[in-house]
Amino acid sequence: MRDESRDFLFRLLEAAGPSNYEAEAARVWRAEAEGFCAAVTADVNGNAIARLRDDAAEGAPKVLLTGHIDEIGLIVTHLNDNGTLAFRGIGGWDPQVLVGQRVRVLARGGALTGVVGRKAIHLLRGEDRDRAVKLEDLWIDLGFAKKEETAGRVRVGDPAVIDAKPVLLENGLIASRALDDRCCAFIALEALRLLAEGDAPYADVYAAATVQEEITMRGARTVAAALAPDVAIALDVTHASDRPGVSAEEVGEHGCGSGAAINRGSVSNEALVDLLIATAEREGLAYTLEAAGGRSGTDADALVVTGKGWRAASSRSPAATCTPRSRSSASPTWTPAASWPPPSARSARRPISPPLTVLSGEC
Ligand SMILES: [Zn+2]
Repeated sequence: MRDESRDFLFRLLEAAGPSNYEAEAARVWRAEAEGFCAAVTADVNGNAIARLRDDAAEGAPKVLLTGHIDEIGLIVTHLNDNGTLAFRGIGGWDPQVLVGQRVRVLARGGALTGVVGRKAIHLLRGEDRDRAVKLEDLWIDLGFAKKEETAGRVRVGDPAVIDAKPVLLENGLIASRALDDRCCAFIALEALRLLAEGDAPYADVYAAATVQEEITMRGARTVAAALAPDVAIALDVTHASDRPGVSAEEVGEHGCGSGAAINRGSVSNEALVDLLIATAEREGLAYTLEAAGGRSGTDADALVVTGKGWRAASSRSPAATCTPRSRSSASPTWTPAASWPPPSARSARRPISPPLTVLSGEC
C-alpha cells in the first residue's frame, strides 16, 4: 500500500463516526475523494457519494461500491448524581471489551476524555464475580464530582467512541476501532482512485460511504434510491476463521490475508457472484466464499430491496484486525482487477449483463 493511502486509512480510522453522528469521518472521506473524482456530494442523511467521472457514455451502466462509514459507539443516557455518566450502546457491543477503555465523549463544546468504570473485582461477591459484565454495570468517568458540574459540558444523547489510535502490528496487520467498516469505505474509494489513474471504464462508477449501517441500514437505502445503480457491491468485514476458538465450520474458512470473502446466498445475485469469482481467478486474486442463508448482515440487504431492486452482492474482509497486503508493492489492498467492457469495445454502446468493475484483494 502506498504511504498516502495508508495515511488516508489512518485518518479515517481516527475520525469519530458512531451511527447517525458520522460527519467527522464522512468529511475525511469526501476530502480525499475530491482529489480525483468528478463529483463528490453528501445527502441529507450524511452519506458521502463520489462519482468517478461525469462523461460516462449515455446508457453506461451504473456501478456502485459501498462501505459504511459509521461505527458502533456509545450514547449518554443519564447524568448520575456523582458526576459520572450512564450510557448504552449505539449498535451491538460486547460489553467485556469496554471495561477500562478510554473514551471520547463528543460533547457540543468539544470532545471530553473519560474512562469506562466498573465496580472493582475485589468488591464483587458470589455469582457477580463470574458473570459476564453488562452495559448497565458500567459508567463513564470524566472526572466531574457532581451532576451540576457534568451538566455544564455533557447532555443526554451525546455520543462517544473508544479513544484509541490505530496501531500497526507485525506482518502489516492493523488493529483499530472502527475497522468495521472504515477499511471498506477506504477500499471503495481506493478502487475509484485506481480507476482514475487508468483507462476510463465504460461503466459510470460510484463509491459511497454509507451511514447508519450498524443500526438501520438507512444510508444504503437512500443512496440506492437516489442513484438507481444497475449493479451494487456492498463491502464489509467478516469473522476471521484463523483466530483462537473460531472454527471454519462455524464462520466459513477465511483467515486474515485470504482475500475477499465473496458472499453467496439469499441476497447476492448469482450471475454477479459468478462474474466476481471468474474475474478473481483470471487475475490471480485470492478469494474465499461465504454463505448466507438469510440476511447478509451488510448494506446489500438494503440495496436489494430499494427501488426496483438492484443486482447486488456483498464481499467481505476477514477483519478482527485488518491485513492490508498487495500483490505488488505499489498496489493497495483491494485492486480493481478489471473494468468491463474492455477498452476496445467501449466506443460501442451495448447492453452489458452484468456490467461490472470487479474488485478483489485482501484486507
Ligand atoms: Zn460492518
